[in-house]
Amino acid sequence: MGLARNTLLWISENRKLRQALPRYAFIRRAVSRFMPGEELADALRAAEELKPQSINTVFTHLGENVTDEREARKDAEEYIDALGQIQRRGLDTHVSVKLTHLGLDLNEKACVDNLVAIVSEAKTVGNMLWIDMEQSLYVDRTLDIYKKVRMEFPNVGLCLQAYLYRTEKDLEGLLPYSPAIRFVKGAYKEPHTIAFKKKSDVDANFFKLTTTLMQHVKTGSKVVVGTHDANLIQSLQARAAQLGLSKKEYEFHLLFGIESNEQLRLAREGCSVRVLISYGSFWFPWYVRRLAERPANVWFVMRKMFSS
Ligand SMILES: Cc1cc2nc3c(=O)[nH]c(=O)nc-3n(C[C@H](O)[C@H](O)[C@H](O)COP(=O)(O)OP(=O)(O)OC[C@H]3O[C@@H](n4cnc5c(N)ncnc54)[C@H](O)[C@@H]3O)c2cc1C
Repeated sequence: MGLARNTLLWISENRKLRQALPRYAFIRRAVSRFMPGEELADALRAAEELKPQSINTVFTHLGENVTDEREARKDAEEYIDALGQIQRRGLDTHVSVKLTHLGLDLNEKACVDNLVAIVSEAKTVGNMLWIDMEQSLYVDRTLDIYKKVRMEFPNVGLCLQAYLYRTEKDLEGLLPYSPAIRFVKGAYKEPHTIAFKKKSDVDANFFKLTTTLMQHVKTGSKVVVGTHDANLIQSLQARAAQLGLSKKEYEFHLLFGIESNEQLRLAREGCSVRVLISYGSFWFPWYVRRLAERPANVWFVMRKMFSS
């Protein structure tokens, strides 16, 4: 892992910096590249702008590691409100949650109750909920909670990270649940004892995991390819076609503001594409992870520092 990426990921986890740095105006200006605004209304507006281009969306209300159960409950209410507004505007917009935002660090039962409140509302309005995957210390609990909730709700999906050695086995354990999985490379700082470090190894594992689940799509599993990596996208498109999957039998999810041309290219080709739009005031650690994915982004922040 490069020094710059390591340093940025350390910053993203440092509590003091998480509080201090977002106060700087140049950092606030730079974050606008990755999110349309802090309010739900900003996310709704961005989703409405993407819809005519055949790009659907996923909303995430930013937050993680909450330290107060009331805050976790409030986050669940925020998602329930968002689901109502999505339905009223006729948007095809899923929601994606972090379990530590719903209280996993505090009380697992309360976290599951919050999750079930959102997923049942999503089911009522015919929508889908995705569970993000956070640092490795949360993987076991996240898998257990997903399996429990999946037994009752068909409209719940889970993110798996290709950089973890364990993910192949985790996927095997999920297959009996006909899971909906969004595969991503992985965004956190993990040691080499548990995670691939070389890009080529992560990419190879991503390809292997995704094609494994593609072979279960005809029997009810769902595959989401969550990457901006054009080479990986193209090789997975070719493999999906070889496996007899139509372009609508799996989805691509990309992040707002990243590789927008690739988003448009996929939509124009007739693929199912969603853009994940983040909103909320607790954006700092999430934003620094975006910088770490491409340390060249730091120059963009520096330019904002010197622009008016
Ligand atoms: C929909 C979605 C959901 C996600 N959910 C999770 C999750 O729950 N848990 C988790 O650990 N991770 C999550 N991630 C993040 C993921 O793990 C990667 O860190 C991130 O997607 C960057 O990797 P990449 O696959 O785009 O490939 P990379 O090889 O990192 O990037 C490929 C190309 O995409 C472009 N690119 C990628 N990132 C950026 C960036 N930040 N800024 C500018 N250009 C960029 C660059 O051109 C780069 O060359 C999610 C990603 C997506 C798209």
